[in-house]
Formats: sequence, structure tokens, C-alpha cells
Amino acid sequence: MIKTRAIVLHRFPYSDSSFIVKALTEECGIVSFIIKGGKKKESPFRGALDPLALSEVVFRQNPNTELQFIKEATLLDWRKDLRNDLLSLSKAQVMTEMILRYAPQGVPLQEEFARLEQAISEFDDGTSDKSRIFAQWLLDTCDMWGYNLDLTTCSRCGRTLDKPAADFFPETGAFVCHACLDVDTPRARTETLNGLWALLNGEKIEHPEFTENALLTYLRHHIGFLKEIHSIKFLNETRKLFDYH
Ligand SMILES: [Zn+2]
Repeated sequence: MIKTRAIVLHRFPYSDSSFIVKALTEECGIVSFIIKGGKKKESPFRGALDPLALSEVVFRQNPNTELQFIKEATLLDWRKDLRNDLLSLSKAQVMTEMILRYAPQGVPLQEEFARLEQAISEFDDGTSDKSRIFAQWLLDTCDMWGYNLDLTTCSRCGRTLDKPAADFFPETGAFVCHACLDVDTPRARTETLNGLWALLNGEKIEHPEFTENALLTYLRHHIGFLKEIHSIKFLNETRKLFDYH
């Protein structure tokens, strides 16, 4: 029997009454559970297996099957405040989808668990600076998956930046200092450059969508474009709502 904390990444219907739940567990990485009768109102797991919930699950790991049977699931935190914040919710969904699609399967993912748990807790915490959470998670994920992004060094002259870079190339992750850019026109927007500088220095990011998109582009160029991240469409729609209202 394995008893571990788990973050629900995804849940979808299976047959008339059941669910399949994919969860990031603290001990065993990503595990798929079949929840027979999960759709019924009297299901003992109600709430504990909602997407983004933090729960403690008990199961017996059967190496011969992809779908594990869950014995117990206890809700630890439903993330009520996160669920009432559409922008944070849409960012959290991109994070969970990226882990589901890109994280290695069948291996423990303790660091991924710790960082996702931290980001979701911060989204759910009314006092935290929401502007940094997704960008920080993306930067940490670059690092975790072996695509470390150096925010401090000019890629041309090798000097340490002492203010926001003059340009940034998200495909390669290269920063260019003001001396090296000289009279050339930068390709990156000021919002992106200032946002990456704020991220490095632990400051509030004024227009986080530019920084987040730059980091997403960097990460996807390194991972490859094989799999589309569907929840990014929802995030972009949500961002529009917050821009114009
Ligand atoms: Zn330079």
C-alpha cells in the first residue's frame, strides 16, 4: 500500500459512472486512477479528486496495469480562493497540463510536486503577489527539466547585466545588453525585458503575460512542438477579459 499526497492534474469521464483521474503524487510521480462510481453523488471521494485539489491518497500499486484502484482519498485543500480567481485558475491549468504532457512518466517527480504545490498554494493565498507565480514556475521548470535560462548574462559579450536587457530572444534564451545591441532595434518588447528583470530580482511584474509568453516560447522551443497545450487558448481568452474590463 502506498500513502502519498497528490495533486489532481486532470479528470475525465469513463463509462456512465466512472472517472479516470491523473494525479501528480509526491512519492510515485504521475499516476492514473480509475474511480468506479465516481460520478455518483454519494461517492466517498467527492471533492478529493477534483482537478487542482490537494489530497492524500492510499492505493496499492499494481505494476501490471496502467490504471490503479484508489482505496482512500482524503481532501487536504480544495483551493477555494484559487477557484474563484479565473486568471489564476487558467494559469494553474496550463501548469497542470504541461506536467501531464511533458513530465517524464513512470518516475518519481518530487521536485515537480514541490514546485507545483507551492505555486498552487500561492495562487490560493490572498496575500501573495500573483504577478510572479506563473513566471517563476516556468523559470523553475526550465531549470528542473534541464533547460536552465540565464537571466543575468549578455549572450554576446558575457557581461553581467546591471539593468533590464536591451533584447531577448525567446527561441534561444539569449539576452543582449545595451552596449551590444548598440543602435539595432530590439525585437523583444519593453514589457518582456522589464518583466524578466523583475522576475530575476524578486519584484512585482507589471505585465506578466509578456514574461510568461516569453518563457513559454523558450520552454516549448526546447521541449519541441510535438504536443499542443490546449489550456493556453483558455488562458489567452481569460487574459483578454482582464485587459479590457
Ligand atoms: Zn553585451
